[in-house]
Amino acid sequence: MTESTQNSPPKPRPQEVTIPTIPIEYVSDEDMAIIEAAYAATRSSLSSSISSSICSTSSRFQTNTRSIQSITLLSKRGLNGSSELDIEDSGHLKNTQKRSRVAQPFLHRFRRKRGLSVTDITDTEWCEKQMEFTLRFGKRKISKAMKAGRARHVKLEEEVFKKLKVRVQSVEDTWALKFIDFITGANQLLFEGLTRELPLIGFVEGVWVVGVIDEVRMTENGSDRNSILVDTKTRARHSLPAEPQRRKGRLQLMCYKYLWDTLVADSFPSRLFFDFFSLNHNSILSENIREKAANSGFPAKTLNDMIGYYRNTYRMLPPAQDQLLLRYELQKDQSVLGEDQFAYDPDWLKKQIRGSLEFWLGERDASYTPEEERWKCRHCQFRSICPGNPNPNSPRSSSSSDDSSPSS
Ligand code: SF4
Repeated sequence: MTESTQNSPPKPRPQEVTIPTIPIEYVSDEDMAIIEAAYAATRSSLSSSISSSICSTSSRFQTNTRSIQSITLLSKRGLNGSSELDIEDSGHLKNTQKRSRVAQPFLHRFRRKRGLSVTDITDTEWCEKQMEFTLRFGKRKISKAMKAGRARHVKLEEEVFKKLKVRVQSVEDTWALKFIDFITGANQLLFEGLTRELPLIGFVEGVWVVGVIDEVRMTENGSDRNSILVDTKTRARHSLPAEPQRRKGRLQLMCYKYLWDTLVADSFPSRLFFDFFSLNHNSILSENIREKAANSGFPAKTLNDMIGYYRNTYRMLPPAQDQLLLRYELQKDQSVLGEDQFAYDPDWLKKQIRGSLEFWLGERDASYTPEEERWKCRHCQFRSICPGNPNPNSPRSSSSSDDSSPSS
């Protein structure tokens, strides 16, 4: 990670395409924000293996990897290292107890015919119990700060994309539109060296996972082509996020690389895809969608046709580079606060995905965020009912908009 306090955008790197506007994400103060104060108060007690340092050399990648592995182990512990408490342990939730014992896995109850999103995986890394509460009781209402952030996001996005509304009439249309977006984005990448907001879908460990990657850059060196995956976070304050937020960002990007590499290796089981999402691959797409596809150069009439064009496109793409890039920008002027370039760690990623799927598939109860990170509880919507919160009676800490929150 490198730090910069300059107020002007960074110079493009060699072989990088100049970017007219950086993709911006805005904070949900639910997920990612507000953390600095609590983190600052507790980081002195964190394990030394949890690196909060920011550096810019290759040794940083090793540090990051060690941090990630340490945290992974911590995050799977229950309270005091003992067996985990559960929502049923709360006296407030007796009615939930009976339901939870007979309930279907969360994946089937809440993500049926939708698949998991990358955010579903990264949110469980943050705190599985919080995800469980959110699924059961819902998220709190959107705050004014979140609305403002989203409005600004839309405004900035419209400076780069000419958004056209397309009416969809079926779930097949909806998927066809995603494939059109992918094909046009991939063509933009191949011809212009850069694309943004690219939808990804992949079959991971027997589960469909979807996501939208912020940005992909293509570099060429002779006949060698490289795809570089980039994610940009914005910050309300002139500071970099705490290590757990950075770790979450790294996990997110690694998930995208996994999806990307799986896809370009020609691993898209279309029959399973049609079955899982209950799609009729031969039904005729609506006129709007057929017109949009034809105007984009691929006259698909059915979803099956669309998959054919999709396949022809992703086969042309190279695997993603092992080095992944997280960028942090200040919201008010888009100046670069820092960059975290780190190495893809497939072993760590698989453990994370597998651990998350254990939760989603109901193979075990949700775990609490590790003890070293219980400062998260001060800002948690469910702090008053969660048995994992060491101070359930303390008031919720004030919140402020900060780091951006992934939503794909
Ligand atoms: S109170 Fe703490 S342990 Fe409980 S759900 Fe919230 S963050 Fe997780």
